[in-house]
Amino acid sequence: MPDAADPFSDELSANRGYAAGFELAELEPHAAKGLGVLTCMDSRIDPLAMLGLAPGDAKILRNAGARVTDDVLRTLVLASYLLGVERVMVVAHTNCRMATGSEDDVHAAIRAAGGPDTRSISFLTTRDQEDALREDVQRVCSWPYLGNLTVGGFLYDLGTGRLRRVC
Ligand SMILES: [Zn+2]
Repeated sequence: MPDAADPFSDELSANRGYAAGFELAELEPHAAKGLGVLTCMDSRIDPLAMLGLAPGDAKILRNAGARVTDDVLRTLVLASYLLGVERVMVVAHTNCRMATGSEDDVHAAIRAAGGPDTRSISFLTTRDQEDALREDVQRVCSWPYLGNLTVGGFLYDLGTGRLRRVC
């Protein structure tokens, strides 16, 4: 736990240990497996372990709900042309907060938690994750700058650790 004076003290302390045994200085910036992974920010997902990856293997992109936003497209253009990414996995997951209610539900939950009125923000919630995956994969594939990528949509089961291809 952090100490009262510095809310990040625990992480800085952990980092000192990490840096003492640091072994990744020789990694190349290119994704060694030519892979990009877009998944949710959910802390129950360990993207590298989930896919048998090591640091350096893949570019990992995360946001709420693993949705293909403009920023994801921007990042994939860089990943594709400058960082060796040739294939992209879009990985949604079971029990995702972004798939368990409407936009209005999320706005209301934030208000109920003491937050502000967020109705000017779109959280990209979905009622049908498989449909959303198909839409998002299509969005990447049809993006004029990204026609060179192979893209798949997957659903990760938080209860079993299994990944299933949707599209
Ligand atoms: Zn999620």
